[in-house]
Parts: sequence; C-alpha cells; structure tokens
Amino acid sequence: MEKYQCRCQYVYDPALGDPSQGIPPGTPFEDLPDSWICPMCGAKKAFFMKMEGMPTSEEGHPPIKVKVKCFSTMVKADACDYKGSTDYEMPEGSTVHDLIEKLSLPLEAVKIIFVNHREAETDTVLKDGDQVAFSPVTGAM
Ligand code: FE
Repeated sequence: MEKYQCRCQYVYDPALGDPSQGIPPGTPFEDLPDSWICPMCGAKKAFFMKMEGMPTSEEGHPPIKVKVKCFSTMVKADACDYKGSTDYEMPEGSTVHDLIEKLSLPLEAVKIIFVNHREAETDTVLKDGDQVAFSPVTGAM
C-alpha cells in the first residue's frame, strides 16, 4: 500500500492507520473518509501527495543538496573552493553548523556565513538547493 505525505511532511502509512481518528491499521489512503484530516496540521486529503518513487535515505527523508563556496583562507582543496561551488548532500533538517562539521572547517574561523547571498547563522536550517558560502573575514564579498 502506498504512503502519502502531507504538505506539512506528515506521512500517512496505511500499515499504521491513524488511531487518533479511529482509522485501523491496514486502511489504504484511498479508503480514508473525506472527513479525515492530517493529524499534524489539519489539512484535508487533497493536500497529500503519493510518496511513490520518492528517494529516501535511511532516516526516511530525502537528502537535500547544497552548494558550498569558501573564500580566502577558508578554502580547502578537498572540501570547498571559491572558483566554483561544491555539491554536498545533507540529511533533511541539517543546519549550517552540521555542514561546517561535515566539511571539517574550523568553526571558530568562520566569521561570515551566507545562505543564498544573505547573511546567516550557524543554526540556520538548510534547504534543498541552498547556496552556502563561508568567509573568514568581514567584507570579503
Ligand atoms: Fe499535515
């Protein structure tokens, strides 16, 4: 049976049903009553999309892809460059801090972070397709 995902990321799994609304395990999405709503956000069935063929990582979420550029002394030949951006795959929900750790960049040396050309913080959550840049000094861009 197919899983369906809500606009809010909630996944209806037919194998589990939805006990909170009296839906027994083994109920296909198609058989849910029209009065059924997303238990997370209250959206109607129309806001759900079939998860067929969606890539999943071991966490059950599709990984996101980000492009990374580094400037000046942040440049590491094997991690990131200033000439072109380097692609990285991260688990959904990763932050800039997670990315810095993945790249083994010295956190204390990262002075400015740009996400999509806007200044960001280390706790900024990354999204698929984001362009991230690290700079060690003010005014380098
Ligand atoms: Fe929802």
